[in-house]
Amino acid sequence: MTTAPFDPGRPCPCGSARPYADCCQPWHVGQPAPTPEALMRSRYTAFVLELAEYLSQTWHSSTRPSSLSLEGSPQWLSLQVLSAGTRGDRGQVHFRAVYRSGDGFGYLEEQSDFVLEQGRWFYVAGDTREGTLKPGRNDPCPCGSGRKHKACCR
Ligand SMILES: [Zn+2]
Ligand SMILES: [Zn+2]
Repeated sequence: MTTAPFDPGRPCPCGSARPYADCCQPWHVGQPAPTPEALMRSRYTAFVLELAEYLSQTWHSSTRPSSLSLEGSPQWLSLQVLSAGTRGDRGQVHFRAVYRSGDGFGYLEEQSDFVLEQGRWFYVAGDTREGTLKPGRNDPCPCGSGRKHKACCR
C-alpha cells in the first residue's frame, strides 16, 4: 500500500493546531523530540501516517517489538493529551486517542512511560485501556472537528 506524502503545511494530525512542518515533522526526519509529550505526539502522528520505521526507532530497545506491522491498524481520528510530565530522565504521558470503529468510535487511553537516553526520549511501555464512545447528537464529535456529532461524522 502506498500513501500520498502528507502536505507539511496541513494541520498536524496530532491535533496541536500547528502545521505538520512546525510540529511532528522535525522529529520524524531525525531531530530528537525535546519532551516525552512531543515524542508521544509524534508517535501518534506516525501511526496516522504509517511511519512504521519511526515507531521502531523511538521504541526503547528493551521493549521494542521485533517486527512492527501497521496493517489492520484502526483509522485514528484524534488525540488528546490529558497530562504529561518529566522527572530527571523519566517521563510519563497520559493520553486518549479516538478511532473509527464500524459506524461508531472507539478509544484507547494510555499512561505511557518514557526514558531519556543520550539526548533522546524513547517510549518504554504503557498501561492501556480501551472502550467505545457513544456521543449524543448534540455532543462534540469524537473526531475532534469541534462540530456537533449530528453535523459531522455519522
Ligand atoms: Zn504534531
Ligand atoms: Zn466528526
